[in-house]
Amino acid sequence: MNRISHWIDGKVVLGESGRSGVVFDPATGQHQASVDFASIAEVDHAVAVAKAAFPAWRATNLSRRAEVMFRMRELVDANRKEIATLLTKEHGKVLGDALGEVARGLENIEFACGIPNLLKGGYSEQASSGVDVYSIKQPLGVVAGITPFNFPAMVPMWMFANALACGNTFVLKPSEKDPSASMFIAELLKQAGLPDGTFNVVHGDKTAVDRLLEHPDIQAISFVGSTPIAKYIYETGTKNGKRVQALGGAKNHMLVLPDADLDMAADAVVSAAYGSAGERCMAISVVLASEAIADDLVGKIKDRIPGIKVGPASEDGNEMGPLITAEHRDKVKGYVEAAAGEGATVVVDGTTDLPSEGFFLKPSLIDHAKPGMKCYDDEIFGPVLTVTRVHGYDDGLALINANQFGNGTAIFTRDGGAARQFEFDVQVGMVGINVPIPVPVSYYSFGGWKASLFGDTHMYGPEGINFYTRSKVVTSRWPDPRTSTIDLGFPQNR
Ligand code: NAD
Repeated sequence: MNRISHWIDGKVVLGESGRSGVVFDPATGQHQASVDFASIAEVDHAVAVAKAAFPAWRATNLSRRAEVMFRMRELVDANRKEIATLLTKEHGKVLGDALGEVARGLENIEFACGIPNLLKGGYSEQASSGVDVYSIKQPLGVVAGITPFNFPAMVPMWMFANALACGNTFVLKPSEKDPSASMFIAELLKQAGLPDGTFNVVHGDKTAVDRLLEHPDIQAISFVGSTPIAKYIYETGTKNGKRVQALGGAKNHMLVLPDADLDMAADAVVSAAYGSAGERCMAISVVLASEAIADDLVGKIKDRIPGIKVGPASEDGNEMGPLITAEHRDKVKGYVEAAAGEGATVVVDGTTDLPSEGFFLKPSLIDHAKPGMKCYDDEIFGPVLTVTRVHGYDDGLALINANQFGNGTAIFTRDGGAARQFEFDVQVGMVGINVPIPVPVSYYSFGGWKASLFGDTHMYGPEGINFYTRSKVVTSRWPDPRTSTIDLGFPQNR
């Protein structure tokens, strides 16, 4: 069986802890690989290597750092298919979806190619007589990324591209469920000319994560995953004096007003709810349907569901693959099974007549879901869409704003005024107007509000640059041979 080990100091390093995890093929349910789990000593080794690599990388000039990112851009572009194929094998998402993941990750490497411009500071000449003031952005040191199973290539790219370009060195702890993409990426970074030790990968579980959280030489932690773990990462990391950005789970609502183009809305919600088997933090999981159009809209969604081809990524034409594990599949199934007992209506039950092998579910549609029902309250993270009927804009908005999560949301309407008001009122970090999955492009930043983000800084884009740098302000005066004075007052310019 394949064995996946760590990447430290520019090479594969076999794990010595004696502990490992199983990597499944979710389409067959078979074990396809084992992944070494790092011990505390192995994490310490990776951090020590990254720390040793920091002074030279930090001193590497901006053109050279940009050059590495440009080369990495070319390498990822040339290897899209290889990376996407690894994703389909371990995550289970279909190839088209996996290629989309690589493309959205690549955007972040492209953004980081502009690092000389992004690190420009400010300059104020003559802030006081003969005194100039300027600000500079400097890297933090060794930073760590801890990433989830659902985007094994894109989420690491959200982090390391800017972190490295800013001059930091990096330790990645990818999801143990689909760890191969991170190893491939590490190889590509080496080929791109990144010095050994600058980017390292340690695989593992809580032992590795906890060591990163407490390690005195880790300056900052970027995390993406579920809300309980995000909260834990934020609290533990900050308690240990680290800068932390921890992105959590989601329950993304799409509000459909009576004047919306219902076919457009139905197409959008079916794609956004069931794409990648609903295992996207920006998936739409709740439709808030205005009563006037709710029956129509539910009918249109129901009509579209049988057309979704569910099956392994290895077979052409499939649009939705399996879930990540049998355990997760069973949990998702449980929400559908319990929905009727909670008072909701199961319009399409995707939990029966399933392929005999693999962790598959088909799309489910649940109508008349309400707060207080588990199918409405919890993040399900599977191919289950619930519909809640609302009286209109105010009613829908109130539900969104009352939700514990605030990652993404969307409004479907032809009324520009309503859309503008929605963007003003809604307490959510990423908003789509007739766009169901509003993942910001790489030159904006990604992040939710409320229980979807712990920390102050969103990920990638300009906020990513801020997260991975510390600013310094220099106030300078050069001796003017014509003047010499002593002044015991506090420095001021008036
Ligand atoms: P997860 O929280 O289980 O795992 C994320 C990472 O944390 C993994 O590397 C894992 O090994 C580690 N981890 C898990 N349990 C831990 C523990 N007890 N202590 C320390 N570390 C631990 O998340 P997941 O199941 O891999 O991913 C799905 C979740 O991620 C969903 O909730 C989804 O909404 C969320 N997500 C959020 C975003 C976002 O941008 N907000 C993006 C993608 C995924």
